[in-house]
Amino acid sequence: MKKNDTAVVEITDIGVNGEGIGKVNGYALFIKDAVIGDQVEVKVMKAKKNYGYARLMKIIEPSADRVEPKCVYARKCGGCQIQEMSYKKQLAFKEQKVRGNLERIGGFAPELLDEVMEPIVGMESPFHYRNKAQFPFGTDKEGNPVTGFYAGRTHDIIANTDCTLGVPVNQEILEIILEFMRRHGVASYDERTGKGLIRHVLIRYGFTTKEIMVCLVLNGSEIPHAEELLEKLRGMEGMTSISISPNTERTNVIMGNSYEVLWGQGYITDYIGNIRYQISPLSFYQVNPVQTEKLYSLAMDYAELQGGETVWDLYCGIGTISLFLAQKAGQVYGVEIIPQAIEDARRNADINGIENAKFYVGKAEEVLPEYYESFAREHDGKTARADVIVVDPPRKGCDETLLDTIVKMQPEKVVYVSCDSATLARDLKILCGNGYELKKVRTVDQFPMTVHVETIVLLQRETL
Ligand code: SAH
Repeated sequence: MKKNDTAVVEITDIGVNGEGIGKVNGYALFIKDAVIGDQVEVKVMKAKKNYGYARLMKIIEPSADRVEPKCVYARKCGGCQIQEMSYKKQLAFKEQKVRGNLERIGGFAPELLDEVMEPIVGMESPFHYRNKAQFPFGTDKEGNPVTGFYAGRTHDIIANTDCTLGVPVNQEILEIILEFMRRHGVASYDERTGKGLIRHVLIRYGFTTKEIMVCLVLNGSEIPHAEELLEKLRGMEGMTSISISPNTERTNVIMGNSYEVLWGQGYITDYIGNIRYQISPLSFYQVNPVQTEKLYSLAMDYAELQGGETVWDLYCGIGTISLFLAQKAGQVYGVEIIPQAIEDARRNADINGIENAKFYVGKAEEVLPEYYESFAREHDGKTARADVIVVDPPRKGCDETLLDTIVKMQPEKVVYVSCDSATLARDLKILCGNGYELKKVRTVDQFPMTVHVETIVLLQRETL
């Protein structure tokens, strides 16, 4: 096929980004917004030798799994990829994606996976689940300030203050800010010229405490007539923290390096289970608190702690898993590369009165091997041991040096939390080739309507 060709296609598969895949005489077409089971008319946009990309022109026969999206911008917006797929199908797709990677990349037998894969943990209500949103500001053709989301793969702003993944207070806050900007002629930042003041707003909401944080990211250091804006925002029930974060760099990075509190506290408080967390504008915090609690409860179940165990939590962020597990462990060690996150982790341990969690700043693949070596030096060559090692790496997965050290430390259990099932499968293959057995795999849907998927795995040391 070539560019601009049209065709009628039956969608028979789903690609990794949630796009539909259909074949025309063996030639595969990737079609964004087409749902498996649809019969669609498409136009080829880009043709390669063996496959191409096509645009969905018309749905001839909708799939039984196609649903009316809740958000009218679902197709254009880059935030959601699969809102037009029924939630049930989304869950099946995610589970299948993890399974496929474990088979293909991990080399695990289908019979084993049948045994160890537990049903995906979905949400009862898969909308309005995000406790954090960062809205970019821009200017429409008439010169009015607008805010919303970027269209897929671009920086064009789709004006929309009512995102279906965010919490309802977002809209009220955004409307207050837009109204204020219009009244005082405060301009949105323009990426092309580097002019204008308001770049983004970060909104965070504590699902259990109902506390609200607003942090405006500025191309500058102050907002003219700020008092008036504060007055309005302060009036909202639950408002706890209003701040600014100056960011005058010409960059895609959203937040500045620092923030200044304009009103209230510099943080909001929220809970996961019974652990309390203070979250500042620059802290990392899980965005779906409902599913996070389920994920951490699974980590707790998988670890089967009795009270005296030594646990390592690698890639610990602000210590969320560490503190959760510390409630039942003897001693927990957390390792994280970002110094501020470790500061948060230590403070969170403190405010919860947790004394058996110790945190290290550094790369997991350096801190753990160094610990292992120095332990041997100080203890006449004895091996440093751990009962449970938890890893929760970013998408690229674990470094091989780290996996080597884990194998040497021979923990009874390894709990692997992953946001990329391809690197997960790769790493599991290494661990399972070195004395570990795959015991449990469970996918947790932390990000409904998107193609992202979180997986938790239990590995057990083989008894010789
Ligand atoms: N377990 C945490 C965070 C997981 S996200 C939670 O559940 O909240 C992954 C974390 O790994 C991030 O905080 C990131 O900063 C950190 N990270 C990335 N590379 C790392 C490395 N090489 N060593 C240690 N931490 C790393």
